Amino acid sequence: MYNPSKLFFKKVVTMIEINYQKILEEIEEEIQPLYKKGHVANYIPALAKINPRQFAMSIRLLDGTTYNIGNTKTKFSIQSISKVFTFTLALQLYGRSLYKRVGHEPSGDPFNSLVQLEYENGIPRNPFINAGAIVVTDSLLSKYKDKSFDTILNFIRLAANDSTISFDKEVYESEVDHGYMNLALINMMKSYKNINNHISDVISTYFKHCSIEMNTEQLADAILYLANDGINPLTNEIITTETKAKRINSLMLTCGHYDASGDFAYRVGLPGKSGVGGGIVAIVPDKMSLSVYSPNLNKQGNSLIGTRALELFTAKTGFSIF
Ligand code: GLU
Repeated sequence: MYNPSKLFFKKVVTMIEINYQKILEEIEEEIQPLYKKGHVANYIPALAKINPRQFAMSIRLLDGTTYNIGNTKTKFSIQSISKVFTFTLALQLYGRSLYKRVGHEPSGDPFNSLVQLEYENGIPRNPFINAGAIVVTDSLLSKYKDKSFDTILNFIRLAANDSTISFDKEVYESEVDHGYMNLALINMMKSYKNINNHISDVISTYFKHCSIEMNTEQLADAILYLANDGINPLTNEIITTETKAKRINSLMLTCGHYDASGDFAYRVGLPGKSGVGGGIVAIVPDKMSLSVYSPNLNKQGNSLIGTRALELFTAKTGFSIF
């Protein structure tokens, strides 16, 4: 029979007894056969040449305890994970009025889809698909002008409490040279009057924040505020409000993995955000942040091993939000 106090007791004991390091070791073992699957993001030449056989995973508890496995010092471009930070900044600046220009519904379409954007008159479905993130970047440009990229970078440094974080110039230039779909998206949105600044300024700022590079330890730190109602518990820095943290987490859950967001919620059951660089971040509310890196992607552009590693994590710990 259902007994709430027994369940509570079980959860407390589980938290105390969990051997995170052992769990990470098991995960590293279990993902080995998956190295044969997936492919790196070959539409960005600088990412196409990355060694696919890499794995790193970091856990950061709210008290600062860290658990690591694999190449957790290896930096990689965070790509669309940067959209979590730009959205946090824009929400802070514009509040609900931001939703006049970008929605908060899942798209069910690929990350760079043009089709839906035309149907919906240049208003992207959410801030985590490319079109939505480009609108968000445009909104930041309206406020911060030529200081926009520095503002984004400094905001990420503040969230992670790490002033060494920077961007990868080669990846940035590679995106500038090959970002045809993103140029198509921004041109279409400009024609619908949903871009207010110069296309070249907006798109170069967008590519630049996508090419910010971090390792899994830095990323777990940077995202920790979303596990703690908007405050980095290690520095007590208020990164956003409790209400906004709730909104960002729900968007990560419903839109954080493009047209595989449902699958990620089904398998992992945590708010998370992926990037085509091979990184994924996720949070367990009131407990911890997680970050995983492995460059081979699945069909929808999410790290294949990263998704599996997080699925194994929630299966082994019971820490899905469901
Ligand atoms: N910079 C990438 C692009 O615009 C981001 C996509 C992603 O990480 O999902 O194509």
